[in-house]
Amino acid sequence: MNSENGKDAKSLSDVREVIVIGGGPAGYTAALYAARANLNPLVIEGFAWGGQLMITSDVENYPGYPSGILGPEMMQDFRKQAERFGTEFITDDVTKVDFSERPFGVWVGDTEYRAESVIVATGANARQLGLESEKTLQGRGVSYCAVCDAAFFKDREVVVVGGGDSAMEEATFLAKFAPKVTVIHRRESFRASPIMVDRARSNDRIEFVLDSVVEDVLGTDNGSVTGVLVRNVKTGEETELKTDGLFVAIGHDPNTALFRGQLDMDEAGYIITRGKSTETNVAGVFAAGDVQDHVYRQAVTAAGSGTMAALDAERWLAAQHGQPEAALATPRNW
Ligand code: NAP
Repeated sequence: MNSENGKDAKSLSDVREVIVIGGGPAGYTAALYAARANLNPLVIEGFAWGGQLMITSDVENYPGYPSGILGPEMMQDFRKQAERFGTEFITDDVTKVDFSERPFGVWVGDTEYRAESVIVATGANARQLGLESEKTLQGRGVSYCAVCDAAFFKDREVVVVGGGDSAMEEATFLAKFAPKVTVIHRRESFRASPIMVDRARSNDRIEFVLDSVVEDVLGTDNGSVTGVLVRNVKTGEETELKTDGLFVAIGHDPNTALFRGQLDMDEAGYIITRGKSTETNVAGVFAAGDVQDHVYRQAVTAAGSGTMAALDAERWLAAQHGQPEAALATPRNW
C-alpha cells in the first residue's frame, strides 16, 4: 500500500490491532492489558519515554511499593511488565497521525505504521519556570505535585509559585505539613476563584508575596533547595527568601498538538472522552491518562485509565471482527 506521499509505508498485512502512542503510566498499562489480550500492541513511546515520573524522585503514593520507589525506576518496571507479554516498542516521537480513515495511520518521520485501533496516552507536562537551577534541582526540592511530595516537607518551609486554583489548592494542602508556605505570584490579582483565595488567605501558615517572580532557585552543591531569589516586578527589588522546597503550580499543557483538528478537545487542549469510557469522537481511537484528565493527574489514575482504554479497544475490535463477547480475554461482566 502506498502512503499518500509515497514514503515508506507498511503493507496492509502489517496493520496492527493496537498502536499505543505515549510511554507513561497510562500508555504502558494500556499495552500490558492489550498484550495480555493477545492484541500484540506496538507502543510508540516517545524519545524521552517515561513521562512526568522521570522528573520525580521518590514516589510514595503508588500502591504496591510500600517502601516507595524512584519515579524513573517505576517507569522501567511498567515498561518491563508490558514487554514481558510481548509488547513491542519504538523509542521515538510520533510526528503525524491520520485518523480520517481506517486503518489509522501513525508516522514516525517518514515511516508509517497502521492500526485498526489507537490508544492516545501522550500525557501532559507541568509548566516550568524555565530556569536552569529549577531543572538541576527537580526532584530534589523542586516539585510540580504537592499531592505527591508534600509529606517530604513536614516541619519545613516551602514556596509555591502561581496564582491559579492549583497554586491555592497546593498551598492549602502543603500547609498541613509545612509550618510556613509562601505563595509567590507575578500579579496582584488572582486567576484563582475567590473561594480558593479566601481559603488560602485565612490559613495563618500561608503568606503571600505578590507582584513578584522567582528569578533563581538557590541550592547546595549536593543538590537540595535552600532558597529562592525573588524579584518584585514593580520595583525591580531583588530579595533572597529562605525555603526548603519550591512547588511550581503554574498550570499544565496536554501533549495534544499532534491530534488537533482530528480529535475533539476542550478549550485547554485536553482530549474529550465520552462518559465513563475512554472513547474519543473517532471510533477506534481511545485516550487515556493525563492527556484527557486535568483533574486527578496521578500515576495510579493514569494507569487505571490505561487499563480502561485497553479494555475499550479490545471490545471495539471484537465488535468489528464480529467476535462473540465470550471470546474476549477480559469478558464484560457488568
Ligand atoms: P491556571 O488557571 O492556568 O493558572 C496558572 C497560574 O500560574 C496563573 O496565576 C498564572 O499567572 C501563573 N503563571 C503562568 N505562567 C507563569 C510563569 N511563567 N511564571 C509565573 N507565574 C505563571 O492553571 P491551574 O491553576 O493549574 O488551573 C488549571 C485549571 O484547573 C483551571 O481551570 C482551574 O480552575 C482548574 N483547577 C480547579 C481546582 C479546583 O477547583 N479544586 C484545582 C486546581 C485546578 P497569571 O494569572 O498572571 O496568568
